[in-house]
Amino acid sequence: MTQWVYGFGAGRNEGRADMRNLLGGKGANLAEMASIGLPVPPGFTITTEVCTHYTKNKGQYPTELDAQVQAALARIEDAVGAKFGDSDNPLLVSVRSGARVSMPGMMDTVLNLGLNDVTVEGLAKASGDQRFAWDSYRRFIQMFGSVVLGVDHHRFEEIIDEAKMAAGATEDTQLSSDDWRRVADEYKHMVQQVTGNPFPQEPTAQLWAAIGAVFGSWMNQRAITYRRLHDIPEEWGTAVNVQAMVFGNMGGDCATGVCFTRDPSTGENIFYGEYLINAQGEDVVAGIRTPQPMSSLKAKPGERSMEEAMPQAYAELVAVRATLEKHYADMQDIEFTVQRNKLYMLQTRNGKRTAAASLKIAVDMAEEGLIDRKEAVKRVNPSALDQLLHPTLDPSAPRKLLGRGLPASPGAACGVVVFSADEAEARAAKGEAVILVRIETSPEDIHGMHAARGILTTRGGMTSHAAVVARGMGRPCVAGAGGVVVDYSAQALSAGGVTVQAGGTITLDGATGEIFAGSVAMIEPKMSGDFATLMTWADEVRRMKVRTNAETPLDAETARKFGAEGIGLCRTEHMFFDPERIGAVRQMIMSETEGGRRDALAKLLPFQRKDFEDLFRIMAGLPVTIRLLDPPLHEFLPHKDEEMAEVAESLGADVQTMRRRAADLAEANPMLGHRGCRLGITYPEITEMQARAIFEAAVTIAKETGKAPVPEVMVPLVMTRKELEICRAQIEKVAEQVFAETGTTIEYMIGTMIELPRAAITADKIAECADFFSFGTNDLTQTTFGLSRDDAGKFLPLYVEKGILPKDPFVSIDIEGVGALVQTASEKGRKVKNALKLGICGEHGGDPASISFCESVGLDYVSCSPYRVPVARLAAAQAALSGGGDRTA
Ligand code: ADP
Ligand code: MG
Ligand code: MG
Repeated sequence: MTQWVYGFGAGRNEGRADMRNLLGGKGANLAEMASIGLPVPPGFTITTEVCTHYTKNKGQYPTELDAQVQAALARIEDAVGAKFGDSDNPLLVSVRSGARVSMPGMMDTVLNLGLNDVTVEGLAKASGDQRFAWDSYRRFIQMFGSVVLGVDHHRFEEIIDEAKMAAGATEDTQLSSDDWRRVADEYKHMVQQVTGNPFPQEPTAQLWAAIGAVFGSWMNQRAITYRRLHDIPEEWGTAVNVQAMVFGNMGGDCATGVCFTRDPSTGENIFYGEYLINAQGEDVVAGIRTPQPMSSLKAKPGERSMEEAMPQAYAELVAVRATLEKHYADMQDIEFTVQRNKLYMLQTRNGKRTAAASLKIAVDMAEEGLIDRKEAVKRVNPSALDQLLHPTLDPSAPRKLLGRGLPASPGAACGVVVFSADEAEARAAKGEAVILVRIETSPEDIHGMHAARGILTTRGGMTSHAAVVARGMGRPCVAGAGGVVVDYSAQALSAGGVTVQAGGTITLDGATGEIFAGSVAMIEPKMSGDFATLMTWADEVRRMKVRTNAETPLDAETARKFGAEGIGLCRTEHMFFDPERIGAVRQMIMSETEGGRRDALAKLLPFQRKDFEDLFRIMAGLPVTIRLLDPPLHEFLPHKDEEMAEVAESLGADVQTMRRRAADLAEANPMLGHRGCRLGITYPEITEMQARAIFEAAVTIAKETGKAPVPEVMVPLVMTRKELEICRAQIEKVAEQVFAETGTTIEYMIGTMIELPRAAITADKIAECADFFSFGTNDLTQTTFGLSRDDAGKFLPLYVEKGILPKDPFVSIDIEGVGALVQTASEKGRKVKNALKLGICGEHGGDPASISFCESVGLDYVSCSPYRVPVARLAAAQAALSGGGDRTA
């Protein structure tokens, strides 16, 4: 015979915490608490399987259920010493829903079930308290009436308000037993009017109606919608808990409360929560009276803590708190009731917490010995760390919402509005905090984005240029704020009926996507203390190295501060946008002769050498991967007349010729055009200049610091082995020259990006002339899917919404497709060359799910933007702990 009903409390616990699938979270934990000796009123749980049966069979219960419920109820009666429906000493119960995960939309709890016109008198006699009995009855009619019978709750509130007015009372507690008796009568009368039936008096009928209402609520629209939004399968079902009542509404020595065993917003190890004297159930959260704090330490003037008001019950609760934390080894969210100074536990579960609290609690618990360090490392969500590394808005600060966009890059920023990158730079140079507001951004805005405290765009998604660059730079960003209208010519933005002129102040919250008028107070991040401690523990278990993508000294320094173990990607073309150099870069591109190019390159050489010296110095002996020029050529071409004229002059040509040349160079599809190593192969002098800059810088720093850098020269966009062979020969030749000229030899490596499917598939051939592979998963994703990241915004969000793609493949690696290529290339490469070094340098290098995949493939390192380095360190540690990572994501 199937067991449909599981008892708990009073010495018979048939459930356990790990039975939440069958008993729901609430039922499983009630049984667990009872079994470790905590004071839990006895009760029973009707399993989630009954729910499934009920749903499938259109409201029919399994045949054995009735008998099992009767037997379980009889057991409660014995334990409590009262009888369900008894006119002298009635047993009252609560009926509570409880699914595997806590789920809004389910039926609310019904308390005091079993009361009717007769048993209410019995309760009054047995308790010796008329007022308590009638207060309980009116509560029951109200809850059962609204929750089970569907009567609008306002109808009940109207009646109470009238009663309070008649009695001249402001608080419920001031009403007398006669008042409550009258309220109960009026309630019943009103319910009969609304439903057409008398209020049900038979306790057993009340019980089954309430049980049926819980199961029925599993299929109500709110619950269905919630399940769809949170991917909760319908098959899970809900359980029903029936439990003997304990009463917090019996007088001044009774109370009810909800609390956390630690502060869920800061993590502080202090009892945190609220309670109310002489109250029942949800009174604490319903806002009927003002709840009071638990601990005296948290009591403000005029407040009365539970510690002070009920020292005995409080002491018991403090002991329970310790027991629960020790048992569950996690912060708990608990619900309790005190009846005549005796404590009863009604619920416990792992408490929800902020990112900051999760960090503090994990570290504290490890230091208290509740969990070990590995467990602490597992407890903190790496993505949540991101929030902690940026300033955040002070939750208590006043604010005025202007509009909303996508939470594209976390952190808060406040500053004056500017509408162009140049102005952002100019005003920032004067020490002003600026917010760069653009309809969308392009690579030409980089300097302004860098200068700005935060970035706001009205177009584009989570992977738009603004979003990707802002995340990389660690700048807060709100993207795609469609409700904000930007008018460049009027130098103004307007949203929600408010207009802000250039120079006006706004505040962005990149973690929520909100935009506020004026300035909102902020809290600065702390990178020492618990954060540092957890990072040390993560590093103890981590296998993969974590490097950074950086080209500026500032980024490199930031990344080092965050614990980067080298540079995994230095994009040399980013060094060419500088106003001091762009002229020479344009000259190089526009020149039609090798001589012209060599002239231009000679001007660039000292700049490049200095760039690399700076990076090598900061990285002090750590590996630095430098990618040879992979230019978005079209972005370097001169556009404006004066730019044309300037280039013409430097090349000794006329403007007309320059225009023709620019037209010749324009590409229909630059992403698949003359870029990557294709450029170095057609114009070897470019590779020569860059290689020379790298090796000369390395030699200089080796001599200067005694710590020889290990340059890793990376050839981009290789599709065949032959290409790499050619580039390798060029680089080696320059290295030999520089070593001969300087009399110093240093160690270096030559490798390639794997960013084309053909390269991945022929990785065994390519590995023969590579010392390392770095997976450029941004381009590899574009070329594998055949979609351009810059154009995907028009349809990709819909694809994700409709489930055609599980997630944005530019944010989290597509394990099935792109991942398969990474794995193939890794295996083929290592078969040819066992010591082949493998890393990843796309945006995915900072994404926890992708990092877990990298661990499973056995990569040596991940490389990500500076601000993601701590996230990656923690994610890599978790991946190592879970033993090879999750490949089924
Ligand atoms: P929710 O899932 O919304 O938290 P609960 O089933 O936990 O609903 O019930 C809400 C509140 O009702 C509890 O916090 C508790 O105060 C009160 N309650 C539930 N069962 C009992 C009971 N047997 N005795 C006294 N109070 C109860
Ligand atoms: Mg509730
Ligand atoms: Mg609850």
